Amino acid sequence: MKKVIITGITGQDGSLMADYLLSQTDHVVVGGVRRLSVKNHKNIEHLMKNPRFSLIDLDVTDSQNVASVIQKECPDYFINFAANSFVGNSWEMPVNHMITNAMAVLYQLEAIRKYAPSCRYYNAGSSEEFGNIMYSPQDEKHPLRPRSPYGAAKCSARHLVKVWRESYNMYAIQGWLFNHEGIRRGEEFVTRKITTNVARIKKAIDNEEAFDLLELGNLDSLRDWSDSEDFVEGVWLMLNQEEPKEYVLSSNETHSIREFVELAFAAAGIDGEWHGSGLDEEYRQKETGRVLMVINPKFYRPAEVELLWGDSNKARQELGWTPKNSFQNLVDKMVSWDIMESKDG
Ligand code: GDP
Repeated sequence: MKKVIITGITGQDGSLMADYLLSQTDHVVVGGVRRLSVKNHKNIEHLMKNPRFSLIDLDVTDSQNVASVIQKECPDYFINFAANSFVGNSWEMPVNHMITNAMAVLYQLEAIRKYAPSCRYYNAGSSEEFGNIMYSPQDEKHPLRPRSPYGAAKCSARHLVKVWRESYNMYAIQGWLFNHEGIRRGEEFVTRKITTNVARIKKAIDNEEAFDLLELGNLDSLRDWSDSEDFVEGVWLMLNQEEPKEYVLSSNETHSIREFVELAFAAAGIDGEWHGSGLDEEYRQKETGRVLMVINPKFYRPAEVELLWGDSNKARQELGWTPKNSFQNLVDKMVSWDIMESKDG
C-alpha cells in the first residue's frame, strides 16, 4: 500500500484520479485542498467516507506549507493537478498563472528533493505548450511555442521538471495532455459551456419558455478533445514506468467548436443549421427558425491557438494506453448529464 498525494483534488482531473486509484489500486489517497470560505467539494463528496481517502490543507503557492506537507506525509507519489487551468483568463491574470502553474512546481520539486527523494512526481502539462504549431498532429518532438500566459507558465514548469529530473535523478515528469472534458469540467471551458447551455435551452423549448441565447467566440478553432476518465489512467501508467518518460495523451482526432455545437444540440434532439458568417453567424433551430446561438466578440482571445491535434501513438504503443471513449460518446454523455441536472435544478 502506497501513499499518493493529489493536489487540485476538488477539480475534474484530481477527483477522477482519486476515483481511479481508489478503485484500481490499494493505495491511500491524500487530497490537497486550498482553504476556501465556501467549500467546493462536489466532486469528492462521494469519497469522504472511504477509509483510504483523506484531505489535507495544501496551498501550492505557499512554499513553506508545501515543504512541511511533503516532509510530514512522505508520499510515494505526488500528482500535481492544482492549476489555474483556464487559458482564457490568463491574459487578465498572468502573474497568478505564473505563480500557480510554474512557481508552485518549483516548490514541489524542491520539497520532494529534500524530504522525499524517491517520490514519483507528475505535473500536468498541456497541448497549449505547443501553441503556435509547426506541424500536425503534434507529438512529443514538437517544439514549445506557447501563445498564452498559461502556455508560457506550463512551458516554464516543463523546463523545471526536466532540470530537476536530470540534476537530481528524480522520477519527475510532465505529460502533454490535450483537451480533456467530462461532466466535472468547469463551465467556463467551451465544451461544458455548450453542454450546460444546450440543456438549459432544451428545457426552455420543452416548456415553451423564452431563453437567453448561447454566446460563443471563435467557432473555427480546432481541438483534440478526449474523455478525462481515459486520461487519468494514462497519467498513472506514465508514473509507473521503469524510466521516467513523458508522453502526449490525445484522441488523435480534431474537431471544431462549430462541430461540437452541432453534436451537442443534436444530442438534445434539437436539429439546427448555420446562418450568416463572421460576427453575424448564428445557429438556428431547423424546425422553427428560432435562434439558439450567436457570436459575442468578448469571447475571442487576444491570441488564439487555431489548431490542436495530438499524436499519442507513442503512449499507446509504449504504455499500452488505450482510450475507451469516442468524441461522440463524450458529447452525448455531457449533454445527457446536463439535461438531467437541469431537470433536477
Ligand atoms: P483551451 O483549449 O484550453 O483554451 O480550452 P477552452 O475550452 O477554454 O477553449 C477551446 C477553444 O474554444 C478556444 O479556441 C476558444 O477560443 C474557443 N471558444 C470559442 N468560444 C468560446 C467561449 O465562449 N468560451 C471558451 N472558453 N472558449 C471559446
